[in-house]
Amino acid sequence: MSRIVALTERLGDVPITTNERTVKGKSRDAFWYSPLLKAQLENVRAEAVVSPRDEGELLKLLAACWALDIPVTARGGGTGNYAQAVPLAGGVVLDMKSMNRIVSIGDGVLVAEPGAILSKIEDETRADSGQELRMHPSTRETATIGGFIAGGSGGVGSVRWGMLREPGNILRLRLATLEEEPRLIDLTGDEIGLVHHSYGVNGIITEVEMPLAPAQNWVDLLISFDDWPGALKAGWEIAHHEGLWLKELAAVQGPAPHKYFARHRKYLAEGDSLLCVMAAPNAVAPLIGEAEKRGGRTVYRSDRASDEEKRSLPPLYHLTWNHTTLQAIKADSSITYLQVGTPADDPLGALGQIAERFPEEIVGHVEYTRAGGKTYASFLPLYRFTTEERLNQVAQELEDLGCPCYNPHAYTYEEGNRSDADPARLALKRETDPKGLMNPGKMIGWENPDYAYDPTGSYVYPGIKRAAP
Ligand code: FAD
Repeated sequence: MSRIVALTERLGDVPITTNERTVKGKSRDAFWYSPLLKAQLENVRAEAVVSPRDEGELLKLLAACWALDIPVTARGGGTGNYAQAVPLAGGVVLDMKSMNRIVSIGDGVLVAEPGAILSKIEDETRADSGQELRMHPSTRETATIGGFIAGGSGGVGSVRWGMLREPGNILRLRLATLEEEPRLIDLTGDEIGLVHHSYGVNGIITEVEMPLAPAQNWVDLLISFDDWPGALKAGWEIAHHEGLWLKELAAVQGPAPHKYFARHRKYLAEGDSLLCVMAAPNAVAPLIGEAEKRGGRTVYRSDRASDEEKRSLPPLYHLTWNHTTLQAIKADSSITYLQVGTPADDPLGALGQIAERFPEEIVGHVEYTRAGGKTYASFLPLYRFTTEERLNQVAQELEDLGCPCYNPHAYTYEEGNRSDADPARLALKRETDPKGLMNPGKMIGWENPDYAYDPTGSYVYPGIKRAAP
């Protein structure tokens, strides 16, 4: 008897499928943004997809997988870019989307199941009490809250609230363990950070407690600049004004906006660089004043647009974060992206040098964020890919300019985070997943606890299971 047949027998009513199309679809995520991951992972497949509807069904599945030694890869919306939800070792994909209840909405606090879609959460919190999540990825309509916590890092809202990892941005996580008798454990305080962005290798999140903020009728604005340094500098200075209540502030270098933002092209001149801003209604006038002082021209504002015009456009955040890359890839499949830190003391200097040194390969995209009382210019540029060798060379040159590269073309936690094997994350994994069945291959430290970060991003998980193409 195959192990999936044995699993099905043990699961009783818990929904499981081996339907080829479903299994193929749920074995993929948005890894194809990376030409390197695309080539490596195209045919990786699970054997079945299991969709528990509550904690009881989930615990039953985990006990059965323990008994049968079946790997378990959790999946929310499947929008992760680094193959976080790709089941490298086969086994089952644990589809969390049926565990999607909002448990409670309080004053500034939400409790929800992990499979709840972010936009649906916000529909409910707005209707209930005029509140919203502090931040969401630009995949708000398709990503789940559990996937955001386990696979994401921040996004729309981070200009005000910092990244997800900042204290107070995740309040509590409940985890299920994968043991003979799976347990539920609650994590608070610093322990939350061991699970956040750990790709579901050290606990299956079954419930989250998140802070809420007062919702605003956010106004989308596009502000054009003649040149990239002007847009960058204006964005940087505006990001420092805490009195301007912004939800999103990004700068995109010309000619990308006119070339790639197809549905907004009518507002843009060829070559213009752009600030993409979401502002609270009370911040719109002072924001425009500050931008105009710095040479900006407001070419679109949603509070002055007709209903028909608004309906014809996607939300502004679909031009930001990794949606900037998506808009470019739609027009030119040779484009991918990089994730680069900039020196806190002089980000504009470094960004200026990058623009001069890589005029053909890199098109600038900055997300302004704030954390620990400081403003940051996170660089998520479009990158014209040619070869892996050249990509590594460019990453090294960026490092030499003082700009660390967080490799989005590798599927392991360590390579994406420039991290050695992390003893604290591994200690939790030994407790929650002693057999190493949760999302195998995503944490090099599990295979090699002495791993020291290698910037060439060349780790290949030895247990990869591929289906015939
Ligand atoms: P999935 O991709 O399904 O899973 C992500 C990881 O979480 C996987 O490792 C999975 O195993 C794990 N996981 C899922 N559910 C659980 C659970 N219940 N318990 C334990 N582990 C679990 N990311 C950002 O941070 N900010 C952005 O602004 C952003 N913009 C994006 C734009 C585009 C166009 C794309 C394609 C991606 C973007 N991303 C961004 C990446 C991704 O969309 C987000 O991180 C998103 O929040 C992931 O949620 P998901 O439900 O799709 O998770």
